[in-house]
Amino acid sequence: MATERILITGANGQIGSVLTPELRTRYGTENVLATDIRAVKHTAPPFETLNILDAERMAQLIREHRITQIYHLAAVLSAKGEQNPLKTWEINMQGLFNVLECARNEGVQRVFFPSSIAVFGVHTPRETTSQFAFLDPQTVYGISKAAGEYWCNYYHQRYGLDVRSLRYPGIVGHQSLPGGGTTDYAVEIFHYAIKGLPYKCFLRQDTRLPMMYMSDAIRATIELMECPAERLSLRLGYNLAGMSFTPEELTAAIRRHLPDFEVHYEPDFRQAIAETWPQSIDDSLARKDWNWKPRYDLDSMTQDMIQHLQLKYHQGVFPQ
Ligand code: NAD
Repeated sequence: MATERILITGANGQIGSVLTPELRTRYGTENVLATDIRAVKHTAPPFETLNILDAERMAQLIREHRITQIYHLAAVLSAKGEQNPLKTWEINMQGLFNVLECARNEGVQRVFFPSSIAVFGVHTPRETTSQFAFLDPQTVYGISKAAGEYWCNYYHQRYGLDVRSLRYPGIVGHQSLPGGGTTDYAVEIFHYAIKGLPYKCFLRQDTRLPMMYMSDAIRATIELMECPAERLSLRLGYNLAGMSFTPEELTAAIRRHLPDFEVHYEPDFRQAIAETWPQSIDDSLARKDWNWKPRYDLDSMTQDMIQHLQLKYHQGVFPQ
């Protein structure tokens, strides 16, 4: 069987820095090319700097490395995106067009596009939000993800490009730091708890949002990408659920391990974004089409996060 040759954009981000080593374990290090606009110390080769707005260099890397699959992670996220809406639109949309066009023209067989629960909005039912619920995204990020899904579907219908997509909830992991999303608090809070510092939470204590542990998110991504095409009934982003919790419930779960941990609540502009997102997600189509099933709930995630972060702070992986 010929092995895949994979290019990842945004490989140094919160998800890419975990997905890259996982794909290298499965497909061979030399077959997984990590790319990002910024090089960082910990990026293992093969790595190339690539701005996703540079279509010519993207095409050149695809040819040079005989790429068969692209995981297109690079984007500007929900909270950061609001600082410069037009720039966010350009990076998120033109970046996606470059990926889709390069894939089509250079014979790439399969593309992964991560979408988000940010595609939903104020007129979407907020509980157990269904796959085909109304989309009215309120952030430029959410608008770019909704439009991105439609374009992925279009490239599949029109050109037969095998594009696959998931709507990630907020992702929590010990391996990396988040990159400017509305759910970043759920990662930051653990770092403060481990360091024995009080945490100032930027969302109100009762703000319930859909979340997922990193290992479930990585497994979902790979399971979707390895699924036989005929089982996929959808080329928009699949709804994906792990767990739902509020900052108050997460704090209580952390306190079961670290009873002295203190949290204060000072909601900022991210509160308004969170209030337009669903509280929980119905992912029954993903379960039906490709047997999706999360493994982590709030308590098992909290325990695993604390164990790993305690070890990492002890080993000096993160500065105190
Ligand atoms: P991140 O912000 O941590 O990483 C994004 C990476 O993209 C960064 O390393 C950044 O340097 C790179 N990048 C930015 N602009 C670029 C450009 N012009 N060219 C090349 N690289 C560029 O994001 P993440 O959390 O790893 O998210 C990955 C994907 O998953 C994104 O598309 C995001 O929208 C989606 N997603 C993430 C979450 C989450 O909770 N992390 C939730 C829903 C969807």
